[in-house]
Amino acid sequence: MAYATPRAATQGRCIYYGTVLHFLRDPGTQQDPAAWQLFDPGALVVGADGRVEWVGPEGEVPPELGDGTPVDHRGKLIVPGFVDAHLHASQVDVIASYGEQLLQWLEKYVFPAEKAFVDIDHSRIISGLFLDTLLASGTTTATVHPTVHKASVDAFFEEAENRSMRMLSGKVLMDREPYAPPDLKDPSVEQAEADTRELIGRWHQKGRLTYSITPRFAPSSTESLLQMVGRVYQEMPDLWLQTHAAENTEEVDTVKELFGGRSYIDVYDRYGMLGNRSLYAHSIYIDDQDRTRLSQSGSTIAFCPTSNLFLGSGLFNLDAARAAGVRVGLGTDIGGGTSYSMLATLNEAYKVLALQQQKLSAMRGFYLATLGGAEALYFEDRIGNFQTGKEADFVVLDWAATPVLKRRTEVSADFQERLFALMTLGDERAVRATYVLGQERYSNTNQIAVPPR
Ligand SMILES: [Zn+2]
Repeated sequence: MAYATPRAATQGRCIYYGTVLHFLRDPGTQQDPAAWQLFDPGALVVGADGRVEWVGPEGEVPPELGDGTPVDHRGKLIVPGFVDAHLHASQVDVIASYGEQLLQWLEKYVFPAEKAFVDIDHSRIISGLFLDTLLASGTTTATVHPTVHKASVDAFFEEAENRSMRMLSGKVLMDREPYAPPDLKDPSVEQAEADTRELIGRWHQKGRLTYSITPRFAPSSTESLLQMVGRVYQEMPDLWLQTHAAENTEEVDTVKELFGGRSYIDVYDRYGMLGNRSLYAHSIYIDDQDRTRLSQSGSTIAFCPTSNLFLGSGLFNLDAARAAGVRVGLGTDIGGGTSYSMLATLNEAYKVLALQQQKLSAMRGFYLATLGGAEALYFEDRIGNFQTGKEADFVVLDWAATPVLKRRTEVSADFQERLFALMTLGDERAVRATYVLGQERYSNTNQIAVPPR
């Protein structure tokens, strides 16, 4: 499946020349200029161990690092690898499925596709295609839902390990009909817990892989399943947790009927599921009390604009979440989402916010797609920017990828205008190369090998 040959492991220090941009914190709505560093022209020095050794202006590489092999990306933009805070490896084949909103879309398209993942060979083929597509889109880290099948988790982590990618995932848990169909259900809470613990033992903190306990969402969960999830999550302080929340009004009404409670977030809170390293995809229909609770508990949100528009779910209020101090990452939510590209996702995020009289600057957009995502996944100490010692995952973007983008770039007055054009007009075509731990894992001179059906 791998189509990009990594650099030889013996290759030592490299110096990547190009325009380098990274973030130290959220630029906010006021465009805080101390939140980013832009080196134009710049250089990024990566050691033989795949970690960042230095970043700065092109002419100022420290002499003791000057023996690195030069790699010429001048005229291109080098940014940290994109972080996709929410998507489904099991939904490769249901992207672009017509005509339904969340609950009916799951039933009609998603669940039939997920049943095939009982087969490990199918899981491997799709996981490989999925990860190669992420690399081709400039995404180097993601938090991913596979299916209820253990094979889907094993296959996904094996393929991620083969590519040295920092990935989070965990077996999907669901046990309540009709929101979990009978042939995609955990047979019992005891079995769901045993399977989860077995997979944690096999994969959690193995290299760059992280286990995230993954109840699908409240409607497909019995109370005893959520109790188990909260108990295991609380028991293991270094365990991650991912699920969906408050995506669709019919779903919100269903949760109210099944669980009562003040709010959807309140239901998860009741079972001890909020806390550091817990992520709630969508969180559209939440109020200030929920935002305060998410912020205080250290819980995070994945904002998935293309999915929220495609499934007609609603508009996420980014400014309110950030004002409350909630960590927010950006997610494609494939296959509800319509593009693997974080650039295309930013383009739609801008429009979702415009409909709410909010603005998304290019600087804040690129922060969300890089360091913001790392913060939402609690990995800001390892990835997300080019501070010394960080893991050197990065993407090289081409300002001239399409004629429209090339022309718009040429007439731009300054860097931020250019960057906004890239965020609005760019997609996977703008990705020239993607590096993982300093190794080239994708180049646009190679095409993805799509496996036959
Ligand atoms: Zn999702």
